[in-house]
Amino acid sequence: MKILSFVAFSIFIFVIESRPNENVKQTCGYDSCHPTKSDAINVHLVPHTHDDVGWLKTVDQYYYGSRNNINKAGVQYILDSVVDELIKDPVRRFVYVESAYFDKWWSDQNDQRRHHVKRLVAEGRLEFAGGAWSMNDEAAAHYHSVLDQLTWGLRFLNDTFGECGRPKAGWQIDPFGHSRELANMWSLSGFDGLLLGRVDYQDRRRRSNSKELEMLWRGSDDLGVGSDIMTGIMFNTYSPPPGFCFDILCTDEPIIDNPNSPDYNVDKMVENFLEYVNDAQSVYKTNNIIITMGGDFTYQNANLWYKNMDKLIKYVNEREPKVNLLYSTPACYIKSLYDSNAIWPVKQDDFFPYASDEHAYWTGYFTSRPTFKYYERRGNNFLQVCKQLYAMTNLNARDKVDLNMLRTAMGIMQHHDAITGTEKQNVAKDYERILENGIQDCLVVVQEAMTKLMSEKSELYETPSSSESNSKDYYLPMTLCQLNASECVISETNDNFVVTVYNPLGHTIDDYIRLPIAGNTYDVTSASGEKVETQIVAISENVLNQLKTRNSIATKELVFLVEKLPRLGYKSFYVQKTNSSEIQTKRPSTYNKLESRKKHASEGTKLNHESRNKIKNSHSNLSNEQSLTIGNEYIQVSMDPNTGYVGSISQIENNKTTTFPLVQEILFYEGMSGNNNVSENRASGAYIFRPKSAEPLLITDKPINKVVKGKLVEEIHQRFSDWASQIIRVYRDRGYVEFEWLIGPIPIEDKVGKEVISRFTTDFKSENTFYTDSNGRQLLKRILNKRPTWKLDVHEPVSGNYYPVTSMISIKDESSKKSLFVLTDRSQGGSSLKDGQIELMVHRRLLHDDAFGVEEALNETENGLGLVARGTHYLVIGKDDDNVPPLVFSKILALSKLLQPAVLFTSGDNLTMLEWKQNKNEFNGISSFLPPNVHLLTLEPWKGKSVLLRLEHFFQKKDSPDALSNPATVDLEQLFSKLKILSVRETNLAANLWKSDMNKMEWTTEEDMAEEFNDKYNPDYDSERLRIFDEPSVLMMNGFEKSPYTVGRRDKNYNFLKKKIKRDENKFVISLDPMEIKTFVVEVEFR
Ligand SMILES: [Zn+2]
Repeated sequence: MKILSFVAFSIFIFVIESRPNENVKQTCGYDSCHPTKSDAINVHLVPHTHDDVGWLKTVDQYYYGSRNNINKAGVQYILDSVVDELIKDPVRRFVYVESAYFDKWWSDQNDQRRHHVKRLVAEGRLEFAGGAWSMNDEAAAHYHSVLDQLTWGLRFLNDTFGECGRPKAGWQIDPFGHSRELANMWSLSGFDGLLLGRVDYQDRRRRSNSKELEMLWRGSDDLGVGSDIMTGIMFNTYSPPPGFCFDILCTDEPIIDNPNSPDYNVDKMVENFLEYVNDAQSVYKTNNIIITMGGDFTYQNANLWYKNMDKLIKYVNEREPKVNLLYSTPACYIKSLYDSNAIWPVKQDDFFPYASDEHAYWTGYFTSRPTFKYYERRGNNFLQVCKQLYAMTNLNARDKVDLNMLRTAMGIMQHHDAITGTEKQNVAKDYERILENGIQDCLVVVQEAMTKLMSEKSELYETPSSSESNSKDYYLPMTLCQLNASECVISETNDNFVVTVYNPLGHTIDDYIRLPIAGNTYDVTSASGEKVETQIVAISENVLNQLKTRNSIATKELVFLVEKLPRLGYKSFYVQKTNSSEIQTKRPSTYNKLESRKKHASEGTKLNHESRNKIKNSHSNLSNEQSLTIGNEYIQVSMDPNTGYVGSISQIENNKTTTFPLVQEILFYEGMSGNNNVSENRASGAYIFRPKSAEPLLITDKPINKVVKGKLVEEIHQRFSDWASQIIRVYRDRGYVEFEWLIGPIPIEDKVGKEVISRFTTDFKSENTFYTDSNGRQLLKRILNKRPTWKLDVHEPVSGNYYPVTSMISIKDESSKKSLFVLTDRSQGGSSLKDGQIELMVHRRLLHDDAFGVEEALNETENGLGLVARGTHYLVIGKDDDNVPPLVFSKILALSKLLQPAVLFTSGDNLTMLEWKQNKNEFNGISSFLPPNVHLLTLEPWKGKSVLLRLEHFFQKKDSPDALSNPATVDLEQLFSKLKILSVRETNLAANLWKSDMNKMEWTTEEDMAEEFNDKYNPDYDSERLRIFDEPSVLMMNGFEKSPYTVGRRDKNYNFLKKKIKRDENKFVISLDPMEIKTFVVEVEFR
């Protein structure tokens, strides 16, 4: 069976900028592993340090070791010290993980030191695991950003160390739960195995009893064996055995081996260690176990560790021949599992939610710090804009430095204490600073690129008015605005301004733009010189009242439709105020008046009648003429006149109206307070969601509604209290409803923390089943009070059923083929606790710490007031036999909301109408056709004259059979209008290995994987074991040359591909199967 060889790859992939010294012998990778013994328990000691990229201290404070009063941690000293100790003895090993820190440290080293370190890496003594910029979170992080930061971290390692710097093991030891989509990504990125620290305590117990802590995990049913990865859950998370922490941060005893010393302890230490080995070995399948020797910011003095580990190895091996203690690495451990010939269990679901005990469900962080989570998502949006524009416009080296700021900033944001919202407040502020700097630096890149594109046909640069205009550095000033806060200096204060809208999608789209304004009438002129239809909408009074920190004089928004926005292209508009009579310089005083926020206590009345009853009521009232209704020719939202809440949504297709009873409410849970001494006293906090009661409270039973109707958009401005309101909105021609919630400042005068949800209740028979996305990609089935691989004891009926919603959550009524999708604009926690219901947690403000280390309550404030969060849920409802089924509609909508057009503002002072008219005001970056099921995931400058290109088929096999789920073909040759493609070479997903060099280990499993996990997992499913087939079978994976899913594929019926192009007929023509992502290094020339 062992036909694959594990010789280290001798070729350096890509042009590496600094090669390891030629004289250094390359013996890294599996060749450098210390030998194991078949007749002994091989104990793999893995020395490591867990260096959070920000948590209690900022990234820089951790790196430099400042603010040690908070936490004695300095990463620079760790790396200094470890390198010294590794040089002393070639037997020693160390694994390093976070490229964000290693890059910082590397840039501080001199040539001699670098030479030494390259040697250590080349000899496999210093190994990288994970290797992404940070150790990303797996719940709130979006796959787009995870992939970017994995690529960026691995590229640094590849550039610096070549093949020996390529991590072979994934190392996700601290994230709070693990996602299936990331298992897929680790596998496709060429990792041979994945090691995890935290899994649910019940899951761990069950797996320990049945020796199933190690398994073959399938990341994607669509991609099959290509997405499998060997996965191990470690015995002690990532800590050393109790009593064996030899760190300056610890108080454990060193090994004292002088027999004359009164403190001689070798016998005791060896005995204790062997006892631990015995315990650990009893729950694993093979005669190999991994023991992590390290912890958070350990090894600032590595001598302590190595001196004691050297002794430990010596004495244990001397005294117990049945144990072989050795220095090892994660990769060497995976290799030993491979060599063991064991037969492994399989896994196809994920590791969410994570609970560390009965009352500690780590499901609060899915929502913690909602405004930061939104900002991070926008950061990704702008990073893609910036990368694309750079790649298409041939900018200079300095711009690359600016681009890298946002690349690295977004890498930091994915860290499992950043995007999660589980860091201290000061650190959160610093993350915002880092992201803001990255965005501002990238804005310079965008301005230069846009100026280049816009000036193509213009005389702009020859304008002799300014000497600067001849300078190459000249660029058209463009700014971004906080449109989420309805504020924008340029649109509010200028009578004339330019709005340039850039579309980062590979598809043409229509999009509505909203500009905050202070005037009354405006003309918007398009690139073709025509007047664009507009509507002016008053900013909701609730927004003016609640968003106290808003720095704006705008009281209205100018709405217009940008039609047919080109692919990777832009359209520019000139906006002129036509009635300059009154600029409101200040808000009406009533807006500034702070209404009593003590009201909430009386407002928080129990929901005294079930939402289902409301549905009945509203249904019977649908014919009521007085019903408040907004909508368009496709979708209508009707308010229930009795309750003031939404009562139903109607969908109109082919003149046929289908009405779905639907109630939407804003409610809140009261967060549990407690001293955290024992599990029952656990408080709700940044990590943990623990409501006092399973029944949330309604803020009011009498919302106040105001209707706004116009040609382009219809809205209901709905107020629940002085801290909770929303706008329900339907744009013309749009088949979905927006619920723009505005929550805060959450009142805490009653000393009770609150966790606010938006809840949608329908009459669907969803049979306790719902679906949530995995990191914005595949949808996973969830069943109330159930887990796929063990019988769940339910101790927390609400939070134990919360799952991460990175982009969407849905329920179905199988009998009537109805589905409801709710899409989010950031990561949130969500669930379906009752049949027909969906809830999403939008904001939380808590007064107690939950005792998992952050030592602060999640009580975010701004200017002394509780933080206000504003966001949007996009609701899609319909039937599976609709022209565009809700699932297909939702997937396309989610993409357009993830990568929204960038709206850039230029003051009319910088660009007159006349000057603007001379510009190229419309640009299309993609000149050929991109199939509708293909997403242009990545276009970024790579090395030399190459760009990195990723194309993704974003439908699953079963999403749209015989239509969008069909394979797709793309001809790269004529794809880009600005780039002439010279050569194309495919890489692995993370772009650090040529695809032709990819090898996969083969593993033998106890059973076959289910063809579709979501189909097998049902409410009556026996969760004791995921046993589907009885016969063991060998899974074969022979590189990626032959796609494992070629057999049985749907090659016929390409109903949207007019022209059939044979594969391999043209080297620039590539094909994509459902959920496949292909990554290419493309050499280009600018056209
Ligand atoms: Zn951590």
